[in-house]
Amino acid sequence: MDSLRHRPIAFHVTHWCDDPFSRGAYSTLLAGATPEHRRRLGEALGGRLVLAGEACNPVAPAMTHGAWNDGLRAAELALENGARRVLVIGAGFAGLAAARRLHEAGIDCRVLEARDRIGGRVHSVALGPIQVDEGAAWLQHFDENPLAEQARRLGLPLRETDFSRPLAAAADGPVPDIAAAWDALRSGIDRSLPLAEGVARYLEGRDEPTRRATRFAVDANLILEACLPLESLSVDALDEEGVGAGDRFLPQGYSQLAEHLAEGLDIRLARPVAAVDWTGAQVHVHGEVADFCICTVPIGVLRDIHFTPPLPAAQQEALAHLGMGRLEKVVLQFDERWWPVSPSGYLRWYDTPSSFGEWLDLTDGVGTPTVAGLIAADALDRLFAGRSDEEMALAACAALQAWADAARIL
Ligand SMILES: Cc1cc2nc3c(=O)[nH]c(=O)nc-3n(C[C@H](O)[C@H](O)[C@H](O)COP(=O)(O)OP(=O)(O)OC[C@H]3O[C@@H](n4cnc5c(N)ncnc54)[C@H](O)[C@@H]3O)c2cc1C
Repeated sequence: MDSLRHRPIAFHVTHWCDDPFSRGAYSTLLAGATPEHRRRLGEALGGRLVLAGEACNPVAPAMTHGAWNDGLRAAELALENGARRVLVIGAGFAGLAAARRLHEAGIDCRVLEARDRIGGRVHSVALGPIQVDEGAAWLQHFDENPLAEQARRLGLPLRETDFSRPLAAAADGPVPDIAAAWDALRSGIDRSLPLAEGVARYLEGRDEPTRRATRFAVDANLILEACLPLESLSVDALDEEGVGAGDRFLPQGYSQLAEHLAEGLDIRLARPVAAVDWTGAQVHVHGEVADFCICTVPIGVLRDIHFTPPLPAAQQEALAHLGMGRLEKVVLQFDERWWPVSPSGYLRWYDTPSSFGEWLDLTDGVGTPTVAGLIAADALDRLFAGRSDEEMALAACAALQAWADAARIL
C-alpha cells in the first residue's frame, strides 16, 4: 500500500456477513429457485403466523420498499384473520410497516427487536461531519416507491443518482458496451441449463471481445446485484431488478426515515427471539402471547429460530431455495476529491478478477469528499477475509486509485 497517493482521513467498513441479526446483505435466488419460492415463503400459516420481509417479496426483493410492502401484506393477513393482539419480530422496514398498519387499525401490536436500535439493514453512522449508510442508501424504483413518497412528505433532502450512466473504467483497456453484452446474454442464454453452465455454453465459440464484455456484464449486473458466485445462483436471478434510473439517496442518512416511521409504535429493543411456539390457538414468543405473529427476521437468521411446530414443508423448501447474498461497503472520506467526477455520481470499475466493482460518489450530496465502494461474493473472500478494517479501507483506496488512473486515460 506504499504506492497510495491518497490516504483517507476517515473510513467505515461494514460487516453484514458476520452480523448475527442479518447474516448477509439481502436475499437471492439460489440455483433452481424462482420468484414463486419468495411468495410461498410468505404464505399465511395456520391463521396465526406469517413470515415477511424483503425475501418474501417477489416483485421488489432485496429492497427497502419491497420489505415495506411485504410488511403491509403481512399486516393485512393479521387483520383478515381477526387478530386483536399481534407480535411483530424485527424492527426493520417490514416490521415497521406491519406495526404501523396495525397500529393505525387500532390493533394491539408490539415489536420485538433483537438489536438495541431499529432499522435493521438500514443504519446510518457518523463519519467525520456526516452520516453515511451501512446498508440501504437508495430509494429505488423511485416513482413507484411508497417510502419515497413518505420521504418527500417528511421533507427529507434527497439526491438523484442515475445508475444507468456510470463513469466506467476497466483495468485492461477500453470499456466495452456492457449494456449490449448484458442484453445479448439475457436473451441468448439457454435457460434450461444451470446458470454457470448456461453462461459457459453461451461464451463457447464467441470472440475474445464478446467474452470479455460478457464477463464484465455478469460481474457488474449479476454478481454485484445477487451477491453470490455464479455457481450458486438461479437462472431467474438474471431477471431480478436492482438499481435503476431516478433512484435517490438520503444525504442525511436513511435512518432518519426509519425513525419517523417508528414514531408512536410499541417497539421493545434488545429482545432477540430464539423460539416461536404456534402450537395452539395463540402464538407464544419470548414470554409474550398474541393471536398472530409476523416474523420479519432476515432469512439467514430465520434458520436459527426454533419454530414449534416446525415450519411446514412448503416453507422449508422455499427457504432452502433462497440464500443470503454477501455484500460489504467501504466508505472513504478524504480532504479533497481527487478522483474523476462522474456526472451521475456513479462509477464502475471492471477488473479481472472483480474487486470493488461499484463506487458511489456521495460528495455533492453530503458536502464532504466521500465515496462508497461495494464488494460482493467471492471478491470478499479474496480481498476481505482476514484483513482489519484499516487494511480493507486501504485496499479499497488502492482500487479507487487504479480506477481513477484508468478513467483519466480513457
Ligand atoms: C450493503 C447493503 C446495501 C443495500 N442497499 C440498498 C439500497 O440502496 N436500496 C434498497 O432499497 N435496499 C438496499 N439494501 C437492502 C435493504 O437494506 C433490505 O432489503 C431491507 O432493509 C430489508 O428489510 P427487512 O425489514 O426485510 O429486514 P431487516 O432490515 O433485516 O429487518 C429485520 C429485523 O429483524 C431483527 N432481527 C433479526 N434477528 C432477530 C431475532 N432473532 N429476534 C428479534 N429481531 C431480530 C433485525 O435486527 C432487524 O432489525 C441494501 C442492503 C445492504 C446490506
